[in-house]
Amino acid sequence: MMYFVEGASFVSVYERLQEVQAHIHEACCRKNRNPEDVNIIAVTKYVSIPRAQEAIDAGIVHIGENRLEEGLEKWEVIGNQVQWHFIGTLQSRKVKDMISQFDYIHSLDRKSLAKEINKRAPEGKIVKCFVQVNVSGEETKSGLAPQEVIPFIKNLGNYPAIEVVGLMTMAPFIEAEEVRPFFRKLREIKEEVEALKLPHAPCHELSMGMSNDYVVAIEEGATFIRIGSALVGEE
Ligand SMILES: *Cc1c(COP(=O)(O)O)cnc(C)c1O
Repeated sequence: MMYFVEGASFVSVYERLQEVQAHIHEACCRKNRNPEDVNIIAVTKYVSIPRAQEAIDAGIVHIGENRLEEGLEKWEVIGNQVQWHFIGTLQSRKVKDMISQFDYIHSLDRKSLAKEINKRAPEGKIVKCFVQVNVSGEETKSGLAPQEVIPFIKNLGNYPAIEVVGLMTMAPFIEAEEVRPFFRKLREIKEEVEALKLPHAPCHELSMGMSNDYVVAIEEGATFIRIGSALVGEE
């Protein structure tokens, strides 16, 4: 039995990863899912480059950052050992500084941003994007309202450098069990988009679940969970 100590960075990432993987397996077992379909993004925004490297040495292949400058500093050192996920709010004018380094953008939520991504994508690069949805309707959260998602995604067909790989949401910060309806709703919207079979929007992925609620997110179909404090700690 391993005890999870909140914020204690003396617990190795390896041990924490074992624990997260055990929870993923249990959740997948309950729902008859294949654990290999759940990708862990280690969110390294709170921690140093060596701590991020420790996560990679433990087996992490996806790194998530929500602040561009810190993300690029880590990228300079770590480079293409891993896939890079931009999970924060992205200003259009910053797209040109990150488009070559990041493999996924999780926060596509407006046409002006889509236009800029399309314009700045290097020749031949298809940028994998998640459309961010504000399922809970909280005013402080970014993302499209659920009813805006399908028209928005249809319109993205005008931007050939963008591929909509899935949908992303941030759940309200409440008890894990209470966020279940929001995750379920995101999955329903994803299924609607998938059913459209748009060539630019396969939309098979769901980026949802963080340290406090990833188990519920997996039960509701998450394929990318974004884990910071429970995995690398908060330095
Ligand atoms: C910080 C952050 C996370 C990870 O948060 P934890 O609660 O530490 O796991 C996930 N997603 C986004 C968008 C974040 O900004």
